[in-house]
Amino acid sequence: GLRVLKLNAVSKVCSAPITSSNQLRLLQWNILSQCLGQNNDGFVKCPEEALTWENRKYLIVEEIVRNNPDVVCLQEVDHFKFLERMLGSQNYNGIFFPKPDSPCLYIQDNNGPDGCAIFYKRDKFELINFDTRVLEVWRVQSNQVAIVANLRINESGKEICICTTHLKARNGALLSKLRNEQGKDLLRFVNAMAQGRPVIISGDFNAEPIEPIYSTVLSYKALGLSSAYADLNIKEKTNASKQCNGNATTNENSESDGGSKEDLSLAELSANSEPPYTTWKIREEGEVCHTIDYIFYSKKHLKVNNCLQFPSENEIGVNRTPSFQYPSDHFSLMCDLEFTDNSNDLI
Ligand code: NDP
Ligand code: CA
Repeated sequence: GLRVLKLNAVSKVCSAPITSSNQLRLLQWNILSQCLGQNNDGFVKCPEEALTWENRKYLIVEEIVRNNPDVVCLQEVDHFKFLERMLGSQNYNGIFFPKPDSPCLYIQDNNGPDGCAIFYKRDKFELINFDTRVLEVWRVQSNQVAIVANLRINESGKEICICTTHLKARNGALLSKLRNEQGKDLLRFVNAMAQGRPVIISGDFNAEPIEPIYSTVLSYKALGLSSAYADLNIKEKTNASKQCNGNATTNENSESDGGSKEDLSLAELSANSEPPYTTWKIREEGEVCHTIDYIFYSKKHLKVNNCLQFPSENEIGVNRTPSFQYPSDHFSLMCDLEFTDNSNDLI
């Protein structure tokens, strides 16, 4: 069914996009690699037929096109040519960067390596430049990648730096440390590419908000990043409590200017306000339901107006995802971001 745009801390009405030259709608989605989903993931409650490319491919395209995003950041793309053809007919240009040693390549009848992709509306933006990176951990290349694209909005001339990534999967202290190192490398890469432009970093970080990478992103001074979904939830809570008792204390406008204790509490507040899940699946080992996908944005230059709500537990159904209804085990994240007045004082 149709998912609902959560409007700026007010009602939950389905709204048509108002995409002015001062606004930008971004959709972030791990679409589930066709090859891995069908052969590797072990989604024990998902009917085999639901996992076929024939069944999934138009569900994926439909979800993207229906939501009408200006920018699309995808992970686990192993059918880039198909998406490029479909989205190409809908006013999008795309960039793809495969993982150097994608696990897909070790599966029979694969469709090539999986990787990250960025699509953008070609009538809204001009591509200034882009770069790709194999993320490094302790100066050694890992098997995870990122794309950065600098875009100029034709109508306003405003520029924005978009990045997407898919960090190392699986649990364990060592892997959570590895993700943190990949994230540090990513942030340096983005900062070097952005050259002071407003930044959006979205992706599958494979890390819950309690992992070190989450606070590493939020406390990276040079970019001043904040999490879109968490921020809208905080705003909603604050407004609700204002309406209830009139004089609620709020730290909405408290500028963090360096104190690491303050950073920690801001990161904690943010972590506590993330949605309850961005992926929900059942494997042999059991059910996995947690938040590991994010849209981060530079708070100085952008504000969040709307976020796309996640389907409820009921809508998802007892067998969770993927399913005939939901083609990926991850849900799409989407938000409307607006340039603030501060976005003029750069470059
Ligand atoms: P990652 O560990 O980052 O994960 C690869 C994919 O596996 C991701 O798309 C991830 O999805 C998915 N995944 C996560 N958890 C599970 C799970 N419990 N069961 C099944 N799939 C899961 O992979 P790397 O790119 O670092 O590559 C390493 C992997 O590739 C190894 O695990 C190895 O099996 C395979 N490989 C095999 C080789 C060989 O056969 N010779 C050679 C090289 C690699 P998500 O991000 O959505 O969680
Ligand atoms: Ca996956």
